[in-house]
Formats: sequence, structure tokens, C-alpha cells
Amino acid sequence: MTIKDIIIKYSKELEEISPTPRLDVETLLQKVLGVDRLYILLNLEKTLSEDEEELFNKFINERLNNRPIAYIVGNREFMGLNFFVEEGVLIPRPDTEVLVEEVIELAKDKKTVNILDIGTGSGAITVSLAKYLENAKVTSVDISDIALKIGEKNAISNEVANRVTFIKSDLFTNLDKDVKFDIIVSNPPYIKKEVIETLDKQVKDYEPYNALEGGIDGLDFYRAITKQAKDYLKEGGILAYEVGHDQSEDVSKLMEINGYTNIYTRKDLQQIDRVVIGNVL
Ligand code: GLN
Repeated sequence: MTIKDIIIKYSKELEEISPTPRLDVETLLQKVLGVDRLYILLNLEKTLSEDEEELFNKFINERLNNRPIAYIVGNREFMGLNFFVEEGVLIPRPDTEVLVEEVIELAKDKKTVNILDIGTGSGAITVSLAKYLENAKVTSVDISDIALKIGEKNAISNEVANRVTFIKSDLFTNLDKDVKFDIIVSNPPYIKKEVIETLDKQVKDYEPYNALEGGIDGLDFYRAITKQAKDYLKEGGILAYEVGHDQSEDVSKLMEINGYTNIYTRKDLQQIDRVVIGNVL
């Protein structure tokens, strides 16, 4: 089959399960052929070899079974950087870029900044902060061994490993109590338990449950982190969260009750309050 035939046939087949069928097919073709998008568009009449077609068929069948493209090809772009991903870590989302950009704004003029990221996952937040803030040292904790492995791999490939420390820890448990941070950042699991079943198959069947579920009301991690973060922040230190689409008020209130001040929110591209930030005195 030619590249063109493949694009036409499989874009149609993917229509039912993917919002971006053509892009998916092109991405899989790029992976199979080891080329960029331009090559695909300039070589529509090229015929795939038997081996290439076999590999493409394997990938497209996985995709037709709802496996996310990022897991099939093994990477995802975030903040203009490349991140390796595999099952076991959440696929970085564009929404999270709003959180990273806001933290960069808050930190860029400081001489040095000591940041803690709770919930490494792929390392998306940790690595991009270290990359775009040359004044930053980032400590990154996760309870998952896979996350710490992938996070480290991404820190190395993006050349920031010398300013990032990964620690296996259930929230603050294994952190040194005497080390204080300027900024604590987190995109914790925040989906309500009962909602998980209703999520898209690509999410609920493939992404790690532990990275998604935030308890009965989705706020378990915000409660735990907000309370404990005060003990790990310097005077005037900042706590910065990504929150679920309907959680900004609840999380702001939690921060207020716990004594944080100057609490404000930032919207994502869909105009949803996606980031909540506050200070300790
Ligand atoms: N910090 C990671 C990210 O933003 C993981 C978040 C998570 O697994 N809940 O992608």
C-alpha cells in the first residue's frame, strides 16, 4: 500500500475512536518510517515495504484498541520538549503547560529558586521547570518506581539531570524536614472515584489509575499537600497546583483555611480555571 492509501483507509477506521484520525495515522507512519511529517506529505505515492507494513499494522491495531498514540510511539511533546512516556506514567497534557508557565513567571527573576514537584509522572513539570529556569534546583517525588525511572530518563535527555533530584516518596514522607522550598508545585491525581469509569477508554484502560484517582471528591491530594506543604515552604513560599475543571473554588478554599494568602487562579486554553496559586506568610 502507498502512504496515501494508508492515510485514507485508516483515517476512516479511526474516526470512531479518535478525535484526530489523520494525525494519528501520520504519526504512526512517521514512527514506522523514522521520518518527519514533511517527508510523509512529500512522499504520498511511496509504497511501504513488507516489514514496514507489518509494523504499521501492529501499531494501527493497538490504536484501534484505544491505546493512546503517545504510548504507541513512546513519546509526547510538552513545553516544546520531548518526553519519553510509557504505560505507568500519565501522558503530559497541554493544560499542565499553564501551570508550568505560571511558575516560570513567578520564579524567573529570583537569583536561585528551590522547587519541589510532587508527583513526577513523566517528569513533564520537573524537567520543563529545570529547563526553562536556569536558576532552579528541582526536587521531584513520586511513589511510583516507573515514574522515577521515566522522569530521570527525561531529565537526562533534556540535559537538566544535574539540577534535578528524584526521590521515591509518598508525598512528603521521605523528604528531609530541614530543607525548605521557595515553590511547591503539583499536578496530583484529582478525578473523583466514581467518575473514573466514565472516562474515555484511552484514559481509563491505559493511563495509570494511581495518577488519576483523587478519592471520593477528587480532593484527597489537595487536602494532604496543602496541609503539609506549609512545613516545607520558606517564608513567603508559593504553592502552585493544577486542578480539575470544577475544583478551583474548593482548592482555593482549602488553601485559605490552611492560612495561605494572595490566592489566585489562571485559566487554561478553554477558559477553565486550571491553576490555583497561593503564598504562605
Ligand atoms: N506531574 C506529572 C504531569 O503533570 C504527573 C501528574 C499525575 O500523574 N497526576 O504530567
